[in-house]
Formats: sequence, structure tokens, C-alpha cells
Amino acid sequence: MTLPAFDDGAPARAVVDLDAIRDNVRALRGHAPSSALMAVVKADGYGHGMLPAARAALAGGATWLGVATAGEALALRAGLGRGDVPVLVWLLTPGAPFAELVAADVDVTVAAPWAVEEVAAGARAAGRVARVHLKVDTGLSRNGVAHGDLPDVVRRLAALHAEGVLQVVGLFSHLACADEPGHPSIDRQAAAFAEATEVLGAAGLHPQVRHLANSAATLTRPDLHLDLVRPGISVYGFSPGPLLGAPGRYGLRPAMTFQARLGAVKQVAAGQGVSYGHLYTTTQDTVVGLVPVGYGDGVPRHASGGSAGPGGPVAVGTGERARVLRVAGRVCMDQLVLDLGPGARESAGDVVTLFGPSDGVAHGSAVPNAQDWADAAGTISYEIVTRLGARVPRVHLSREGDLS
Ligand SMILES: *Cc1c(COP(=O)(O)O)cnc(C)c1O
Repeated sequence: MTLPAFDDGAPARAVVDLDAIRDNVRALRGHAPSSALMAVVKADGYGHGMLPAARAALAGGATWLGVATAGEALALRAGLGRGDVPVLVWLLTPGAPFAELVAADVDVTVAAPWAVEEVAAGARAAGRVARVHLKVDTGLSRNGVAHGDLPDVVRRLAALHAEGVLQVVGLFSHLACADEPGHPSIDRQAAAFAEATEVLGAAGLHPQVRHLANSAATLTRPDLHLDLVRPGISVYGFSPGPLLGAPGRYGLRPAMTFQARLGAVKQVAAGQGVSYGHLYTTTQDTVVGLVPVGYGDGVPRHASGGSAGPGGPVAVGTGERARVLRVAGRVCMDQLVLDLGPGARESAGDVVTLFGPSDGVAHGSAVPNAQDWADAAGTISYEIVTRLGARVPRVHLSREGDLS
């Protein structure tokens, strides 16, 4: 997609290509043709904007939406205006607004014993049957009912199901190491999930949707797709991790382009330290460019560049003159610096791209992607896009204007 001119005086922007989100979901449906697809739009759609991302995912064939928190679920329900699309919320704490969630027709998760009676009370208060997904811990040791608690929780859920207070519509779990294909824990978790399914069956509970696959399992483990897959990061166009290769390999393309406009371009002498702490020193008379984004905008300070290692990558210029430079010195709260080199022809106002829709410079692309920034900062692409700051305006685009 060609981006609109960036001349509104804003220092930075994140353009979100909603067609890419739609197309990524289509591609993911192709990877899991026999399963329904729940697009995960938690954390403001991994930083892309929850509602636009949700609409684009539905246009691509998602039929479920998933979020982490009650606040996200209620905002999604209120903003989406699509009562026909089931929404699941999975990270709840005691005192969560169960009645409000049930009244809003949000599917709620029981992931710990305390939640059973709170869901039941919420359903009674709302005057309607709660739709419940039971989340079991199959080896992640994070959220989910522990193996030892399962028989009691299932017994109680079966009783409330029989009473008509709630309906157990789903059973799910989450994988610990799906981004490391072949990791032995994946098969162990799959076996534990099958066992949990039997425990429910023995109690007369036969949930319609069993789901286990995140992005990595959606892309690499067709045997774990079950009734529904639950991808997040791949919806936004990223490979779940370096071991799975570049996104293009799976027909995915990153949806977000993060750009800034140079605030100043100026001459600096050889041997001059650059930015806080003088982590970087010029080796020749050169030209530096000021990029008006920093960790206050989500640019990781760990991607500073200097003696300790190369900084995060930034694409400067277009066409013949396009090149990828590395952050020179510390990433500050609001700004960072590039060493544009002697004779640089850039000027203030020129656009630079921190990351965009590509397989990444690590895979030979001319424009960096968020995985390149993750590599430079020692983190994952998820954190790069999700932490993009509120200060950066999101500009949502679609070719026909039908998604934004
Ligand atoms: C975040 C999350 C997902 C999506 O995971 P990705 O690795 O982004 O695909 C799926 N299920 C649960 C329970 C999650 O918390």
C-alpha cells in the first residue's frame, strides 16, 4: 500500500494497513482450513488499535475475537456493534465484573477454582446463562486450572451446567514453547489437553470449541488446530519468532509502518560524542540527523547503538538513495540520533522509517521490521509493536476505505 503524504507537522506516526490484517487472517485461515479462527486483539490489538484491527480481522474471516481483560472485552463489545461475533475474555481476577460481562454476552473463562462461583453469581445477577470456557493448565504453569484442581472444578461446573446457570461452551489451554518447533513440551501439553477433555467428558461436559493453538501452533502444528485457532501476532503480520523464519514464508506481511520526520540535520566534527553518555563517537566529520522519537514512544532504549553493539535500524531516504542506518548512541525519551555520513543529502522534514511491512533486514529486506528492532533490543516483535506509545498517532488505512 502506498502511504499518504506525511506533511501534517506531526513528528511521528504509525500507519496501520488494515488490508494487511484482513489478508493475514485470510492466510491464517488457509493454514487452518478446518478450524474457526479467533483473532486475538488484546493490548489494543497489539498496539494497532483494537477496534479497527477487530473489524479487519472479521473481514478476513475471523469469526471469534479474544482479549485478555474485562475492560478490553467490554470496550470491544461496546465499540464493535456485532452481537453475532463471540468475544472471549481469559484473564480475570476476583471481583471481576462477571454480571456485566455476561449481560454483554461476553464468553468468560474459568481459569482458577475461585472463578466458578463468581461466574455463577454473575450469571444469576445478569439473569442469563453464562457462556464459559474452561482454561486448563497443561504445562505452561501460568493461567489455567491446575491438574490437581481439575476434578473439583469440573464437578462443580457440571452441576451448574445441569442447573442451567452456565453453559460450558469451550475448553482451552495455552502452549509454552510453540515457537520452538519440535520442543518436547508441545506434545506433552497436547497429551495433557486430551486427558482434560476426557475428564470433562466423564462428567458429561462436551464443549463445542476446544482450542490450543496460538500463532506458532497455527503455522506449524495442524494436528493441534482442533475446533478453533487463536492467533495473535501473526494477525498483525509477524512470524512468532526467529526459529519460524520470516513472515513472508507464511503469506503474512506486517501491518504497521512506524515513521518519523527528521527534526534537524547538521554537521558534527570527527571524534565527537553523540547523545547521552557519549556511547557513540563519530569517526569522521559527518552529518547527523535528529529523529524525534524515543522510549517515550516505545522505541526501546536497549536498542541504543555504540561501543556495546549496533543500534536499532532505521531506513533513510527512498529509491536509489535509500539505506538502513543504525541508531547512533543512546535512545532518549523523546529522540534519537542517526549518523547520516559525510555529504548526506537529507534535510529536516525528510521521512525515516523505523519499521514497516517487510521480512526485515535480517532477511535481506531494504526496510527494517519490528523483528529487527526486537533483535537489536534483545526482545520479541510482540513487545516492539505493543509498547508503541500513546503519543504516536495511529493512522488506519485500507485501499477501498472500507475497513477504516
Ligand atoms: C496472547 C494469547 C494468544 C495469542 O498468542 P500469539 O503468540 O500472539 O499468537 C493466544 N491465546 C492466549 C491465551 C493468549 O494470551
